[in-house]
Amino acid sequence: MSAFSALSTCPYSFSRRLNPKYCYISCSLAPPSSTGTHGLKIPQKISGRLEGAGKSMEDSVKRKMEQFYEGSDGPPLRVLPIGGLGEIGMNCMLVGNYDRYILIDAGIMFPDYDMLGVQKIIPDTTFIRKWSHKIEAVIITHGHEDHIGALPWVIPALDSHTPIYASSFTMELIKKRLIEFGIFVPSRLKVFRTRRRFSAGPFEIEPITVTHSIPDCCGLVLRCADGTILHTGDWKIDESPLDGKVFDREALEELSKEGVTLMMSDSTNVLSPGRTLSETVVADALLRHISAAKGRVITTQFSSNIHRLGSIKAAADLTGRKLVFVGMSLRTYLDAAWKDGKAPIDPSTLVKVEDIDTYAPKDLLIVTTGSQAEPRAALNLASHGSSHLLKLSKEDIILYSAKVIPGNETRVMKMFNRISEIGSTMIMGKNEKLHSSGHGYRDELEEVLKIVKPQHFLPIHGELVFLKEHELLGKSTGIRHTTVSYTEWRNAWGFTFEEQKSVV
Ligand SMILES: [Zn+2]
Ligand SMILES: [Zn+2]
Repeated sequence: MSAFSALSTCPYSFSRRLNPKYCYISCSLAPPSSTGTHGLKIPQKISGRLEGAGKSMEDSVKRKMEQFYEGSDGPPLRVLPIGGLGEIGMNCMLVGNYDRYILIDAGIMFPDYDMLGVQKIIPDTTFIRKWSHKIEAVIITHGHEDHIGALPWVIPALDSHTPIYASSFTMELIKKRLIEFGIFVPSRLKVFRTRRRFSAGPFEIEPITVTHSIPDCCGLVLRCADGTILHTGDWKIDESPLDGKVFDREALEELSKEGVTLMMSDSTNVLSPGRTLSETVVADALLRHISAAKGRVITTQFSSNIHRLGSIKAAADLTGRKLVFVGMSLRTYLDAAWKDGKAPIDPSTLVKVEDIDTYAPKDLLIVTTGSQAEPRAALNLASHGSSHLLKLSKEDIILYSAKVIPGNETRVMKMFNRISEIGSTMIMGKNEKLHSSGHGYRDELEEVLKIVKPQHFLPIHGELVFLKEHELLGKSTGIRHTTVSYTEWRNAWGFTFEEQKSVV
């Protein structure tokens, strides 16, 4: 602990952990391998670990548990990141008041290109299982895979009655996943609404509306006798969101007056200056390009961005084109929105993909998966000429309404090259305004820090370099307690916080 002695003026305290805890999943939908004590099928996992050689999983978990405060010893507010700090993906965090915890999100991380054979990385369910008696609820901020993707592995590790809370659209996605894995227990699933408080574990929880790139996203206010925590979830500030659900600045302003002991905020785009574009600007750009096109138009975007799909549908209607979906995941998200009663498109009105050739090219607007050149996704297969559903031609106009996720650059560039060889026209790039990030840029992050004025600030959701930059931004707004020893950060196993009674 000597490495932390320099932090004595900072009311954070640290315990050490040996390494981040991961399990690797080498198949995306592993068949259930065993039946839990309550008749639930537990998905098979093939796990490897980043622990040193010779350290057993049991010993490692035991050691870690011994290294963090338990019981009434130590500060009252406790945060144990199980993933999502210093890395992109696998958001999963225990937040507690003394020994009573809630788990916020249960996401997966997609592996680096050099992790051959690994398809998903999930949080350490061994640890979650060991502490299952202390984990009184799971709260999900939104439905992206890096926040819900590990639920099929995490839920069987929890006590059999631990409730799972989410907003209604998010819950539709969760339900589908749990049914696929044979672990759907309706009584455990609780739908929350924003600004409606409910009790979960030691906290009174108030979800608040944030804007992002998937419907129904929330930040969470966690109140208990020992302080108030704000977890922002993933967010941007969209001043004119397509669903009219504005970023709830008012809630943050009220919260600021009440006092926030700890704020944890999304760091993804802290290195991007300025502010993000609104989805309304993207909708206008899509309409402009689709209106100008003479022949067939093909779009590609993230399937979970239901609002973007709504903009594409609106452009199709205004230009007299019929909409076709090519790619499985597009329907997954649209169907969830449909069940939730908020879909911008009636799925039954979509042209069947096998009927594409019966329409004149100028009458079609084809929506595809594959913006990241995923091997089996529609646009990627079409670029190889190996899709029996979609054949590209040099008359096609392709609107790239996405960004290239870091790590995917090489394969996406190869896909672009194949499309160029076919001769289709690609429209992409920042100037075209065909995409906007779901994560706030620097000015937005600064604005929220200045509104909330928390006593303590813990940057989350991002690579280490982003967390560090966000920490500096927090300091620049006058927040005193942002110090996290980043040299020791990777060895830190949890953070604890205490409300500051004096004026900060
Ligand atoms: Zn997200
Ligand atoms: Zn995320």
